[in-house]
Amino acid sequence: MRKFLLCGLCFFAQQVYAQQWHFDLSFTPATQTVHVHLQVSGNTADSLPLKMPVWTPGYYQFMNYANNVTQFKASDQQGKSLAWKQTTPNSWCVQTTGIPLVIMDYDVKANRDFVAGNYLDSLHAFLSPAGIFMHTKIQQPVSISIHPYDNWKQVATGMDSDSSYTYFAPDFDVLYDSPILTGNLDTLPSFKVKGIPHYFTGYKMVDFDHVHFMHDLKKIVESAVDIIGEIPYKHYTFMGIGPGRGGIEHLNTTAVSFTGEGLDNQENRIRTYSFLAHEYFHHYNVKRIRPVELGPFDYENGSRTAQLWISEGFTVYYEYLILRRAGLTTGEECLQQLRSNLLAYETKPGRLYQSLTQASLDTWSDGPFGRTGDSINKTISYYDKGPILALLLDLKIRHETGNRKSLDDVMRTLYQRYYKQLQRGFTEKEFQQVCEQTAGTSLSALFEYVSTVKAVDYQSYFNYAGLVMDNHFEIKKISNPDKLQTAIYKSIF
Ligand SMILES: [Zn+2]
Repeated sequence: MRKFLLCGLCFFAQQVYAQQWHFDLSFTPATQTVHVHLQVSGNTADSLPLKMPVWTPGYYQFMNYANNVTQFKASDQQGKSLAWKQTTPNSWCVQTTGIPLVIMDYDVKANRDFVAGNYLDSLHAFLSPAGIFMHTKIQQPVSISIHPYDNWKQVATGMDSDSSYTYFAPDFDVLYDSPILTGNLDTLPSFKVKGIPHYFTGYKMVDFDHVHFMHDLKKIVESAVDIIGEIPYKHYTFMGIGPGRGGIEHLNTTAVSFTGEGLDNQENRIRTYSFLAHEYFHHYNVKRIRPVELGPFDYENGSRTAQLWISEGFTVYYEYLILRRAGLTTGEECLQQLRSNLLAYETKPGRLYQSLTQASLDTWSDGPFGRTGDSINKTISYYDKGPILALLLDLKIRHETGNRKSLDDVMRTLYQRYYKQLQRGFTEKEFQQVCEQTAGTSLSALFEYVSTVKAVDYQSYFNYAGLVMDNHFEIKKISNPDKLQTAIYKSIF
């Protein structure tokens, strides 16, 4: 029995590691079609099951990418067709009869111009890899060759490359986290932080002061890096995909709707910089500092977590702090950014019905910002209440520790303990424990605001920074703050 088991394991191991997967991508803009050619060599099995994810990490909605797949074919080296069948809406099974090289071809319709979609025209393509590439096992190294259309020159992606147009990913997790932008693109002047290069490549960018913009973006990156203290990637790319709304964070890239329009106006500039700071800070908060449910990802069913209020809400809080610390906003502007979230939360009836944890869990059905179209809005957005909770937590920790500790210490501890040492995410209980250890006291009263709809006692917390709020949610400084209140105010704003 033991012998048999060992043989079985060897066979399995051989099968896993001996396979080589290579994809070729080519484009037909006239029909908005991406052609995918997949070669799997080193096959020994009688059948090859293939799957396409139903979602892409970072966008917690079902995208049903497989609906865009057509013209699926399988063949051997000589071009002889192999039998196959579609076993579920997003899985295929090819009868390989043990032949060593299996070839698959399929088309993907690319007509959704969105950061979680695939889009193609004669000038460029933006690809969300979860909606392009099929896998058998996630732990499989993979290479990709991109065949440019017409006179397309550039490719932007977070994947490593050893020659132009060929890229490598150590497994499908990395591949699915590496969007691809290719076409006739513009590249802005790059910069280094701690010796690590940062790039900005975009499609359809308007004329703006590139040097000044990248100078400010460098300040944003430096300000974010200062919070955690180290950079966990070898290179980082901001990808501007053109006009539109939304952005998605990835391990060492972010795909953002961006044209550079309106940067000459302070209000627009703050909005754009906040957005970029948000997506950038996510490479720490959610990609590495993460809830335990967000990895390994469940590409088949989606990954539900009650902690998106931390991953998203705290990232909103930090986008404001990053800009403030980079000297790109004033203390008053920073306070007003937080007030806008408070106002949005307090003026919607959803606050009486849905807690932060429930909003996190329900995002898969409610949508990213809560449900719309109900007669009474019974949902909230963790993008509004989340940053408010981050502020209250920061104020409380600073107050309890005489301003020696802050929410920054919580983020650093989570990064060091869970991402680096334990190499996993944290549970809800562990998150609260880290907060309480940092504050040196119980925070159960504050965490009640997370899991219930209890009315928030802002005044007690705002007072720690010498602030008061009136009935119109106007927030003002008190006239004679003490030393600690002044220090806390200055540390945040
Ligand atoms: Zn976000």
